[in-house]
Amino acid sequence: MFTAVSGAGHPALEAIESRIWEAARQLGLADGLVENVIAPRRVLEVSVPYTRADGTRGHATGWRVHHNTTRGPAKGGVRYHPEVCRDEVVALAAGMSLKCALMNLPLGGAKGGVATDPRAHTSKELERITRRYTTEIFPLIGPDKDVPAPDVGTNAQVMAWMMDQYSMAMGYAVPGVVTGKPIELYGSLGRESATGRGVVEAATLAAEELGFGIEGARVVIQGYGNVGSWAARLAVERGARVVAVSDVDGAVHDPAGLDLERIDRALAEGAHSLVETGVGDVIGTGVEASSEMFGVDCDIVMPCALSGAIDRAEAEQLTARLIVEGANGPTTPEADLVLADRDIWLIPDVYANAGGVTCSYLEQCQNFAHLTWSEDEVNDRVVRLMRDAYGRLRDTAESLGIRHRLAATVLGLRTIVDAHHLRGLSPS
Ligand code: NAD
Repeated sequence: MFTAVSGAGHPALEAIESRIWEAARQLGLADGLVENVIAPRRVLEVSVPYTRADGTRGHATGWRVHHNTTRGPAKGGVRYHPEVCRDEVVALAAGMSLKCALMNLPLGGAKGGVATDPRAHTSKELERITRRYTTEIFPLIGPDKDVPAPDVGTNAQVMAWMMDQYSMAMGYAVPGVVTGKPIELYGSLGRESATGRGVVEAATLAAEELGFGIEGARVVIQGYGNVGSWAARLAVERGARVVAVSDVDGAVHDPAGLDLERIDRALAEGAHSLVETGVGDVIGTGVEASSEMFGVDCDIVMPCALSGAIDRAEAEQLTARLIVEGANGPTTPEADLVLADRDIWLIPDVYANAGGVTCSYLEQCQNFAHLTWSEDEVNDRVVRLMRDAYGRLRDTAESLGIRHRLAATVLGLRTIVDAHHLRGLSPS
């Protein structure tokens, strides 16, 4: 049993807090120190009023959370989703603290969110929501304090509006206040593919260790958005066969390997979903189709959609030997137990999807230095940092005889705690 520090109640928050406590027991840390690490440094809840397209007023609630900032300025995405809430944002921010520490990036963890459905707004409404949200969280953000980035429901355009709103208040252009910006505003080449690239690097290294290799491996991917579609393309580039993919509207399957170029072409030409592309056999429609898809015969599963996708039932039907978490929190703690029982390897989100924040960090480096690196240089750096971190993760798992999820948490927590010890506590 663990002590809730930050008002656990949301499944994602309970899951990450219990994982941190488990890692703390492994490291033999004192309860008080662990509570310090778990508690978010600051949580700002804001009201976001806006004018609708028809001239009436709307309102949404937003948050910006700085989780742990002992190792550096805060870093984390902004999520626009109707179900986002304070506790989910805190949980995601805690994940960012562990992720930055595990990757050895000189950054702390943050996350933001606005409880609204971006698909229900016109572009002008989204711009108004974004600008007002930016103004409301203004005291917390800045290149040396906290740098937001895109997450679910936000994109490079949203970052451009945030950058503009912040810059207007400062009186000069401050591109470094956000990452994941358009290239024209000093975003980084390689950012769009970086998370998927990291997922595939993680899958390659783990498959090698498991003795089967990515070449020829059959891959199933849930989610065909930014992370999932890039993971699919880059896995194929390494010789894997993507045998099934799903999105919110359904799942498609081809045991010989789906033709991704045809899928991408059909989507670019106006197909609204994977099912509508006409590529592969339709497994089913709607979000339920993903659960069925997890039973497809394969070697690697990459959940790249939302949290809680793999629960006990999905874990019991998986045929894969390896799961690589592209999404944040896609596997429930109950499913983790089933996977451990079935000896299925799981490479956890805090490491597997860290390619995104790693590239964001490289974008910050370029912004601070007023220079731009080539796409190859950025991609090489992302891959190198992912490989280095994999080595640390593997060594921790092996030396302590623990699964990768716990090893990743141990590694992140140990790095944060070391910084706490070195800095001391003020006032002492
Ligand atoms: P996205 O919005 O671009 O894509 C999400 C995809 O998931 C879409 O294809 C959508 O149709 C699908 N989807 C949503 N709900 C689903 C469901 N219930 N069943 C099946 N498919 C569903 O989002 P993204 O940027 O690719 O992010 C996906 C996940 O990866 C999120 O958990 C996010 O936090 C995490 N992540 C993203 C990045 C990044 O750089 N974009 C970095 C780290 C982690």
